[in-house]
Amino acid sequence: MSDPFAHRTGSAAPQGRVTNRLDRLAAAARTAGVDAVVISPGADLRYFAGHSVSSHERMSALVVPVSAPARMVVPALERPGWTGSPVESAGVEFTTWTDGMDPYRVLTDLLPAGTQVLAVDYAMPAVHALGLSWAIRGSRLALAGDIIGQLRMRKEPAEVQALAQVGAAIDRVHARIGEWLRPGRTEAAVASDIARGLVEEGHTGADFVIVGSGANGASPHHEASTKVIDPGDPVVIDIGGPNAAGYFSDCTRTYRMAGSGGDPDFEQVYEVVRRAQLAGVDAVRPGVPAEAIDEAARRVITEAGFGPYFITRTGHGIGLEVHEHPYLVAGNSMLLEEGMAFSVEPGIYLPGRFGVRIEDIVVVGSDGPVLMNNAPRSLITVGS
Ligand code: ZN
Ligand code: ZN
Repeated sequence: MSDPFAHRTGSAAPQGRVTNRLDRLAAAARTAGVDAVVISPGADLRYFAGHSVSSHERMSALVVPVSAPARMVVPALERPGWTGSPVESAGVEFTTWTDGMDPYRVLTDLLPAGTQVLAVDYAMPAVHALGLSWAIRGSRLALAGDIIGQLRMRKEPAEVQALAQVGAAIDRVHARIGEWLRPGRTEAAVASDIARGLVEEGHTGADFVIVGSGANGASPHHEASTKVIDPGDPVVIDIGGPNAAGYFSDCTRTYRMAGSGGDPDFEQVYEVVRRAQLAGVDAVRPGVPAEAIDEAARRVITEAGFGPYFITRTGHGIGLEVHEHPYLVAGNSMLLEEGMAFSVEPGIYLPGRFGVRIEDIVVVGSDGPVLMNNAPRSLITVGS
């Protein structure tokens, strides 16, 4: 039988990684005045336990008290799925519960006496969060999102490696766009071909495929429609998905369809966005506030007179989720540190006309940006 956890065997042993992350979580929780952190299935559990499951309505959770060893609480029927998992290999004990028991009571009985503040991850379903709060009457439920985000946004070398690997995979998909993007096809048909391309080039699935042609490109999160792509159309293609290790790609290029037609201002706008994106990437280094990257990109667009049409923040962190800390947005004065990973994706969106966005994933290196994407940023015409 193949080892479902083989792909996690990077430079560091997975169980060592779990131990290290749990220690750091407990330390961060103690500093924040929290007595225990409870993490439910999802990206946070994958990060700390090296594995996750679909929880459905039954509660599974990793319990991390600041003054006692961590424990996993899982339904008995799901216990076999954790055999050989990094969290098990790290020596974390499992407690199982069966249907008919109160899983919240099972969990809170494991907490050290005197537990006052219990912090839960952002993704915990309300049904479980409320169940816990009723089971620990007298204690206080808090959110652990910030504590967890602070740890997850500082990528370890193996995580940067995973982002580079999945970044190269999405670059290969962009290199193949000309195979699929042609005038006369619908956005939806092109999107389904691209989704297949993501898997062919090393993703486990296509998480999102945005194909916004002509005026549809002016809606940043337009997905794909039955609109037929016309000659000369600008087309925003924003695509991404996870690799086998669970790390996400996210890369946008704006193409121009061959043929006459299209908007007379497109080339000028494209050039402004290209320069803005470059300015944002160039501003990345340790010690710089996150909002300075947004400012650097926004200044170029504002000075060119398109400020009101840059309607989004400049970027978002990325890792085991497509959107995570840190966010490159006005007001975020947090200083960037080596190992943080995020998108730099300025855009100009002209309602009723077209949109332009260029997006790369960047990791903060020791003295500047390290790009996870290297697809060309110059304007490319396809479909001739
Ligand atoms: Zn994107
Ligand atoms: Zn993005």
